Amino acid sequence: LEERARSCLLRFRHRLEQDIKPSYLMDHMISDGVMTVDEEEKIRTKPTRKDQSAALLELLLMKDNRAYISFYNSLIKESYDDLAHLLREDLPSIFCEAHKSSSDSATSYVQTVLSEGGVPQRPVVFVSRPELVNRVREKLYWLQKDPGWVTVFGMAGSGKSVLTAEAVRHHGLIEDCFPGGIHWLAIGQLDKPDLLVKMQSLCFRLEQSLDSQTLSRPPNSLDEAKERLRFLMLRRYPRSLLILDDIWDSTVLKAFDIHCRILLTTRNRSLTDSVSGAKYEVGVQSGLDENKGLEILALYTKMKPHGLPEEARSIVRECKGSPLVVSLIGALLKDNPNRWCYYLRQLQQKQFKRIRKSSSYDYDALDQAMAASIEVLPDEHRELYKDLTVLEKDIKIPAKVLSVLWDLEPEEVEDILQEFVDKSLLFVDSHHKPYLYYLHDLQLDFLVEQNRTQLESLHSKVVRQYQQHYRDGPPTSGDEECLYWIRFLTYHMAKANLSQELYSLMFSLDWVSTKSQIMGPAHLINDYVEYGSILDKEFQEFLSQNGHQLEERPFPDVVQLALSQPHNSEVYRQARLQAQDRTSTG
Ligand code: ADP
Repeated sequence: LEERARSCLLRFRHRLEQDIKPSYLMDHMISDGVMTVDEEEKIRTKPTRKDQSAALLELLLMKDNRAYISFYNSLIKESYDDLAHLLREDLPSIFCEAHKSSSDSATSYVQTVLSEGGVPQRPVVFVSRPELVNRVREKLYWLQKDPGWVTVFGMAGSGKSVLTAEAVRHHGLIEDCFPGGIHWLAIGQLDKPDLLVKMQSLCFRLEQSLDSQTLSRPPNSLDEAKERLRFLMLRRYPRSLLILDDIWDSTVLKAFDIHCRILLTTRNRSLTDSVSGAKYEVGVQSGLDENKGLEILALYTKMKPHGLPEEARSIVRECKGSPLVVSLIGALLKDNPNRWCYYLRQLQQKQFKRIRKSSSYDYDALDQAMAASIEVLPDEHRELYKDLTVLEKDIKIPAKVLSVLWDLEPEEVEDILQEFVDKSLLFVDSHHKPYLYYLHDLQLDFLVEQNRTQLESLHSKVVRQYQQHYRDGPPTSGDEECLYWIRFLTYHMAKANLSQELYSLMFSLDWVSTKSQIMGPAHLINDYVEYGSILDKEFQEFLSQNGHQLEERPFPDVVQLALSQPHNSEVYRQARLQAQDRTSTG
């Protein structure tokens, strides 16, 4: 403790001992982290209030500047303005500097306001995302004069909560917009009784910080809780911000539709449709960029970013910028610093399950979050979402493909996809016209895991729907949809175990020439290599003998090539059937 501060404390010791109620002050000091519960316990055992005050001051004299500042802040909060005034003169200098700076550095004022309101601290390993943080702050500034809603939306694990907590960690913002305080309430998935309990505890918290002597009985119903909260926010906490973390359901939101200032985090973008007032939103869709990802790994492993092993970059790439996943891997590496290669391999082989088992609950949380997101879809849309299980990783598709798969009008499909996007169950690349939709790797993993037993039939459905729609021959337009079918039809057939159909497709001259014209021979050859094994060994031999010819232009006649195979081979038999077919149909 600085000398001036110490002397000040000693000078006013008597006054302080007379007036303060130590138990209230100590609550603040504990939440500021400058005092332990044990220390508090010891002080509480003193017989009288005055003895307790004396003990508290004694303890304070042994502590550092931060403790002094926290003590000062708690005096202010407990409305001992005159006492605080006495101490103000001799506040340690860091306080004054911090107080003056309007930067986002966590001044003790900011820290106090945030810990008072239950805003979570930064995670131990933390990287800044200035652009997003600023976007959230910008929206919050809209709430300066009038009440309203700011929605921060994005998929599970995209860092919404961390980002939100960071955005309000700003002196200027609190002072300008929310001098009444910032109150954080973790919501998550809950039913009505749970919601009532949450609201009761919020009311309790708010009333308690005012004056614990006039605590009223807890509200008995949601309506009553809503009214109590409305009163508290309007009368006792004007210009304060309520943060509702992880909202699932608009009924929850309606309970907070009380004309105050609210920031909510959610996976479901459209939740605020059902409430009134001004609305603003920030999407957390972009992942971390590569350097930020590396920074996280470096922090976990206590290395310099440029000193990380070469696998680091690939790991970050495999994590697709998901802060949650990078952090999970980082945490694993911290305990097992020799396993860069191993974890990279696991990621590449998409063996998330292994990692999932050996790691924290976060992964389960992600799974549960996904499951719950899907759960809240209307039944018929849930079925449609399940169909997305068959997509290949990292492949983006236009709505038209799904319009074939679902046998729905493209417009209708777009509406459904938008719903998925709004719930963070799907991503959209809107830079591209037509829009392309895709799933996050983890979402696909999850879907595959969930529908493990139905993969074959799901892929079959794709093939059947395609066949139904393109009875008269493959699409040739060369648009995104056409490209999808040309590229992935064989994949779906293979996964559906429709080897017979795959065989005829790959021997169909129509198909082969369409595919080679639209995509070039490389993709075609790739199909033969990839699926040759499903067909048979002779087919592979056929390929190894003739593969080079598939690169030729004009494209060779595959049937002709196959006819030059040994007559007892399956390849020959198939080719002969095709040739006969061709002559009979002209
Ligand atoms: P959401 O609220 O979107 O589900 P969180 O904000 O809870 O996501 O973040 C999930 C996890 O990702 C955190 O527990 C943390 O490990 C990691 N994380 C998120 N943001 C950051 C960040 N800026 N720096 C470091 N790690 C982060």
